[in-house]
Amino acid sequence: MSRREELAAGLAATRERIGVACAEAGRDPAEVTLVVVTKFFPATDVVHLLGLGVRDLAESRHQEAVEKTAEVRRLAPSHQGRWHFIGNLQSNKAAAVGGYADVVHSLDRLKLLAPLSRAALARGVMIDVLVQVDLDPEPITGRGGVRPEAADELARQVLSTTGLRLRGVMGVAPLGADAEAAFGRLAEVSARLRGLDRDAGWVSAGMSGDLEAAIKQGATHVRVGSAILGSRPYHR
Ligand SMILES: *Cc1c(COP(=O)(O)O)cnc(C)c1O
Repeated sequence: MSRREELAAGLAATRERIGVACAEAGRDPAEVTLVVVTKFFPATDVVHLLGLGVRDLAESRHQEAVEKTAEVRRLAPSHQGRWHFIGNLQSNKAAAVGGYADVVHSLDRLKLLAPLSRAALARGVMIDVLVQVDLDPEPITGRGGVRPEAADELARQVLSTTGLRLRGVMGVAPLGADAEAAFGRLAEVSARLRGLDRDAGWVSAGMSGDLEAAIKQGATHVRVGSAILGSRPYHR
């Protein structure tokens, strides 16, 4: 099988899983956007994915993302993809991430707003922003995110920042936890943010291992890497 065929098979299997999960949840699959996570995989894979109709691509590490997005622009100058940044975001990198990201899923600090806003204004675009919520039942932050009760205040600050559009929430189920319960907590925060702004209805939740639980709990964006691209070549 060529690499393109491997990716096509991974995409088809993932779309099938999304379809089944939506049917079981009584939801329309058109409500769920598949965001393909390409971290650790080369720009040539991204070009195959674009050719296979993928429009939403995600990266989680700034240095890798800045190089890959530039290479994809070079290899496929007319591509119509959108880049999502889903990784831990440091304030000294936020302006640079805002230079190529169309959507930032990992907003978890006030300090990120000013540099992201400046980057959006410099590009003349609106950057879509999701508030990352820490879904650990114990208040120890392992994988980033604000505590659920602090999400509303951060969301209000996004609403009053030029260049940024509040789109909703993002969460990662804690390791070893009940994913469905975790995504249920995310759904509660989502309902409150939708009350602040009707554009804030996106729920980014679910990965290769738990996308069914996320869709059951209302995910509008699933972030899938290894189920499509294979196991990552190496971990850091
Ligand atoms: C890597 C990553 C994913 C994708 O994980 P898979 O298990 O490979 O699907 C999703 N979300 C975040 C935040 C990630 O870092």
